[in-house]
Amino acid sequence: MFEALSSKLNGVFDRLRRRGALSEADVQEALREVRVALLEADVALPVVKDLTAKVRERAVGAEVLKSVSPAQQVIKIVNDALVEALGGGEADTGARGIDLNAPAPVPLLMVGLQGSGKTTTSGKIALRLKNRDKKKVLLASLDVHRPAAQLQLETLAKQVGVASLPIVAGQTPLQIAGRAMDLARRELFDVVVLDTAGRLAIDEALMAEVAEVKAFAQPHETLLVVDAMTGQDAVNTARAFQDKVGVTGIVMTRIDGDARGGAALSMRAVTGAPIKLLGAGEKLDALEDFHPDRIAGRILG
Ligand code: GDP
Repeated sequence: MFEALSSKLNGVFDRLRRRGALSEADVQEALREVRVALLEADVALPVVKDLTAKVRERAVGAEVLKSVSPAQQVIKIVNDALVEALGGGEADTGARGIDLNAPAPVPLLMVGLQGSGKTTTSGKIALRLKNRDKKKVLLASLDVHRPAAQLQLETLAKQVGVASLPIVAGQTPLQIAGRAMDLARRELFDVVVLDTAGRLAIDEALMAEVAEVKAFAQPHETLLVVDAMTGQDAVNTARAFQDKVGVTGIVMTRIDGDARGGAALSMRAVTGAPIKLLGAGEKLDALEDFHPDRIAGRILG
């Protein structure tokens, strides 16, 4: 992810560095190129405008232009603006993992479109909570529309080495969620991962079902899984889920592909929700914490 954006921005900054002393016009020209690179990477227009306005405001000041290494200063200002766009404001820098700070069993609700990587991510999260956080995890699939989905989660649970809720045919998502929480209370599970049904596209029935499950299960976290490869659509999907269901965090998958990365840069501004985790491959250990500063470093690296 970010390869094209990264190489374009590096081209802009290399030219800036070679100039030595910079005039305001040099910086304005560089900013125009940054703007084009961001738009080509599919970053949402309001986010591009906001980001370049911030950089312009901070970078055309006499202090920067008169400094010993003006290009380096401009790059630092762009870096800081990227970190902010990625959600790394002063109040919330650093890794943002899953918040488990609630009485056990802590319910986590996984939501998202079909094919986004929701079920795989449920397995990845279970593996991480089991190995790293030493939690006793129960996986439960609430997907009553595709019977194969429940079997897929059961198979994943076996691979991960955690429990999955026994499959009972003919139950509603609410009945399954209720059964999962009952079992978790009885058998002292720490965390219950509730994997909801997805659809190929946003539709009212999906949103209504997910909202109903959420109201019933009162999850501590509602994690939306989106596919980075879908670009602007990922952002639109996130906006819809945020409006209709409410999410506490976003997991962006397939960052191992050649996604242009605009979705990652737009997500916080458009939805208000933080990206918490990244899916970086099909393997169950391919789950990364989201560090805005490291991602900005990757873009400018
Ligand atoms: P769901 O329909 O949202 O539950 O999606 P699945 O979890 O079944 O995932 C769909 C496909 O995407 C599967 O083949 C997964 O192995 C694959 N997948 C999930 N996450 C990632 C990821 O981060 N990177 C890559 N390359 N593939 C992924």
